[in-house]
Amino acid sequence: MNKKNYKQLIREYSYFVWLIFLVVATILSTYFYDINKKNQIEYLYKSLNNIYLKNSLKKITSELKPRYISREHVVSEGDTYESIIDSFKISNNEKKLFLKTVSKKKNIKVLRPNQKLFFKIDKLNAPKIINFSIEIDKKKNLFFKRSINEEKFVSKIIEKNLKKIITLKEGVIKNSLYNTALKIGIKPNTIIEFARLYGFQVDFQRDVWKNDTFQIIYEEFKNEEGKVIETGNIIYANLNVQNTDLKLYRFNFENKKIDYFDENGKSMKKTLMKTPINGARLSSSFGKRKHPILGFTRLHAGTDFAAPKGTPIMASGDGIVTRAKWCGGGGNCVKIKHNSSYQTVYAHMSKFGRGIKKGVRVKQGQIIGYVGSTGLSTGPHLHYEVIENGRKVNSQKLKLPSGKVLKGNIRKKFEVNKIKIDVLKSELIAKLN
Ligand SMILES: [Zn+2]
Repeated sequence: MNKKNYKQLIREYSYFVWLIFLVVATILSTYFYDINKKNQIEYLYKSLNNIYLKNSLKKITSELKPRYISREHVVSEGDTYESIIDSFKISNNEKKLFLKTVSKKKNIKVLRPNQKLFFKIDKLNAPKIINFSIEIDKKKNLFFKRSINEEKFVSKIIEKNLKKIITLKEGVIKNSLYNTALKIGIKPNTIIEFARLYGFQVDFQRDVWKNDTFQIIYEEFKNEEGKVIETGNIIYANLNVQNTDLKLYRFNFENKKIDYFDENGKSMKKTLMKTPINGARLSSSFGKRKHPILGFTRLHAGTDFAAPKGTPIMASGDGIVTRAKWCGGGGNCVKIKHNSSYQTVYAHMSKFGRGIKKGVRVKQGQIIGYVGSTGLSTGPHLHYEVIENGRKVNSQKLKLPSGKVLKGNIRKKFEVNKIKIDVLKSELIAKLN
C-alpha cells in the first residue's frame, strides 16, 4: 500500500469512525443518564423512609378518614360495663383497662337505664380510648382522661351546663294538693317533699279543704334549652289551711345541718308523724270495735289507714327498727323504737322497704315498707300503733312533743335568713305580676 492509498482509506472510513464514535457516545450518555435516574429514584425511596416524611404522609392519608371517633351509649336494661365495652373494636387490654378503671369508682358502680356514656377513641395504630365520661346524675358527669405516659386514666367530676333558677309557684287547691300542684307545673318530687314537710302537722285528708291555698319557692335546674332537668330544695313554703298560714323556712342552722322552721323558729319536725302515709284515708280509729275477721268486739289498739297496695309507708320518727318480720295476725310488720318513751308499729305490709331489718337506724319520713293486706286483714291498709311508755295509745289524739326551737345567736341568724327569704318572695311575686 502506498501513502496515498492509506490516506485515501482513512478519508473513506472517517465517516464510519465518526459514526462509531457517535454511537458509543450516545450509548455512554444514555447509560450515565440512566444511572443518574436510578440514583434519583433510590434517593426518593430513601427519603420516603425518612420518619418525618413517612409520618406526614400517614397524616395526609389518615386525615381522609376520621382519626378520632366519638361514641355515645345510652344504658338499657341489663347492660353491664362488660357488655358495653365488648361492642367496641379495641384490644382486650384496652377493655381490661377500662373495666379496671370504672370498677374503682363507687359513684358509677351501678348502671341505671338511660344513663349516658361517651367515648372518644383514637384509631391511630391500635385503637385506644383517649377519654370517656359517665353520667353520675342529671347534673354531673365523671370524666376520665388517659394520662400521657402511663396506662391509666385520671378522672374528675364535671358539672353539666345546668342553670339554677329560683321559682315561685302558688295555687288554690281544687280536688287535691297533688293534682293542683301538677297542673301548675310543679314536679312530683317537689310535691312529695312539700307533703313530707307538712306531714308532721297536717293531715292532708282531714285538715285540708277545697280552696285552701299554698305557695312554694324552690330550686329548678334548667338545661340550655330551658327544660327543667332536676328540681332542688324547697326554700320556703306556705300552706294556708282554713285561713291559717303554716309557713316553713329552710335554714342551715349548724354546719351542714339543714331543717325547716316556722316563722317563730320552731322546727316543723315533731317527734312522731300523725299520719305516716300520704294520700290515705283513715278507715278505722282507735277504740273498741267489732273485729272484721274475728267477729267479736275488742279494743282496736291502733289506727287504720286504707290505701292502695304498694303505697309507701314512712317511719313516723327517727329511730331504730326493732322488728321487721312476719308477726302473725299483723302480717309483715315493722316496729320502731324512737326514744325512751315512744315506739311505733306498722302492720299488714305487702313488703318491707329497702334495707329495713332489725337493728337498722331509720330517719323520719324514710320508707320502711309498702301497704298490703298480709295477716288478718280484709283489704289493703296500714294498721298503725303508737306505744307510749309500754301502753298502746291513740296516735291521732297524741299530744306530740314539738321539735327544736332556735335560740340565741342561731335564732338571730334565722331571723336574718327569714327576712332574706321574705324579700326574695316579694321579688318573685312582683315578677309574676
Ligand atoms: Zn288495725
